[in-house]
Amino acid sequence: MKTIEDRDVIEAFETRLREELDQTARLIEESRAYRAPVELDQQGVGRLSRMSAMQSQAMVQDITRRRRERKVAIERALSRIRDGEFGYCAECGEAIAVRRLEIDPTFEACVHCAA
Ligand SMILES: [Zn+2]
Repeated sequence: MKTIEDRDVIEAFETRLREELDQTARLIEESRAYRAPVELDQQGVGRLSRMSAMQSQAMVQDITRRRRERKVAIERALSRIRDGEFGYCAECGEAIAVRRLEIDPTFEACVHCAA
């Protein structure tokens, strides 16, 4: 059974986290273009298309906010790897099951403490 003490288990999580970090940073960068303020002048676009533009902008902002939160969580996981704390529950200090970390390597608590 794989355990968090295995160096290659940690390395595999580190690779996965770095890839997700790159991807998340790229997606945040790509959505920058959609976050420009919606033009509010009365000519050109009609009221309905302005509303729809504002709604999609709100959606993009929401997605971007969640991506930023995800980026912070990934960065925290990577710094726990550096500090040798990765894979141990932040609440009780017990090893977190590798199966649980495979679901999401940014989990900081074991299944008991997270419940
Ligand atoms: Zn715990």
